[in-house]
Amino acid sequence: MKKIITICLITIFFVLCYKNFCIAEEKCLYVLPEEYNRTEKDLEIVFLNVGQGDCAFVLTPNKQKLLIDAGGSPYWMGEDAWDPGENVVVPYLKSRGVTILDYVIVSHPHGDHFGGMFSVINSFKIKNFVDNGYLNGDPNYADLLKLVDVKEIPYEQLKEGDEFELEPQIKIKTFFPPKKGFLFEGANNSSLVFKICYNKFSILFVGDIELEVEQYLCSKYKNDLQSVVLKVPHHGSRTSSSVRFIKTVKPQVGIICCGKNNMFGHPHNEVISRYNKFKVDIYRTDVDDDIIILSNGEIYTVIVGSDENED
Ligand SMILES: [Zn+2]
Repeated sequence: MKKIITICLITIFFVLCYKNFCIAEEKCLYVLPEEYNRTEKDLEIVFLNVGQGDCAFVLTPNKQKLLIDAGGSPYWMGEDAWDPGENVVVPYLKSRGVTILDYVIVSHPHGDHFGGMFSVINSFKIKNFVDNGYLNGDPNYADLLKLVDVKEIPYEQLKEGDEFELEPQIKIKTFFPPKKGFLFEGANNSSLVFKICYNKFSILFVGDIELEVEQYLCSKYKNDLQSVVLKVPHHGSRTSSSVRFIKTVKPQVGIICCGKNNMFGHPHNEVISRYNKFKVDIYRTDVDDDIIILSNGEIYTVIVGSDENED
C-alpha cells in the first residue's frame, strides 16, 4: 500500500511539473527593450512585415530555426503578384546568416500564408516541412507539396494532441486540427493551433481560425490555452477574437499581422477595442513593421521598428 501511495505521489509530482512547464502559473514579466539584457539563451520570435499575410521566424536557445508561414499573395492574383518570400523573407533570413531551416510550418493552405514558401524552399535547406494535412485550400498548394516532394524534404503533419520537446525547455503543444478530421468548413478553420513554451514564456500561434474553432478550443482546453503572447487570429478580422477566446487565452500581448491599407479592412476596429478592453498590448506589422519578441523564459520584451533588423 505504501508503495502504491509513493508511486501515486511521484506520478502527481511529475504531472504537476509537466503541466507547469507549458501553462505558466507564474507570470512572465514584460520589461522595456532597454531594460532587457539579450543573452545567447534567448528565445527569439520575429514577426516579419510581409504585407497582408503571416510570417514568423523563431530562433530557439539552441539555435534551431523555425519558419511559421511566409506571407504571400492570394492565388487569384496570379504568378506575377508581389512575392514577399523573395522580397522580404529570403533576404531577411540571409541577413541573419540562415542557411538551414529546421522546421518550415504552414498554418493552413491559403496563399497569404504559404505563397512566400516557394522562394524559401528554393533558397534554403529545409530539414522538415510541416502542415495540417488540409487539401481543400488554394489550388496552388498542391504545387508547394510537389516542390517539397521533389526536394525530398521530410514531410509531417501536426495534429491536436501532438506535443514534443524541441530541445530542453522548449516545448510545442498542438491543439488543432483534430486527428479524426476537420470539424468545420473552410481552410481558415483548418489552421494549426499550437503553443511554444519556454519556462514561464509562451506564445500561441492560431493561423486564421474563426469563431467556431475558438469555441471548440475554449470548451475543450480552457486554461491550457493561456499564453503570454497571442498571434491574433485571422489578421484581426471580426470573424475571430471572440471575448471568450481573449478571456481564455489571457494574453499580455497580441500580434496582428496585416498589410497597410489592406483590402479587407484588417484589423477591424471592434477587434482592437476588444483587446484594449482586456488590456492586451497590441502590436501590428502594418504600423510597427517587423516585431521582435525576446524571452529568457523568465521575462520578455517586445521590440518594434527597423533599428533592430540590421543585426
Ligand atoms: Zn490569412
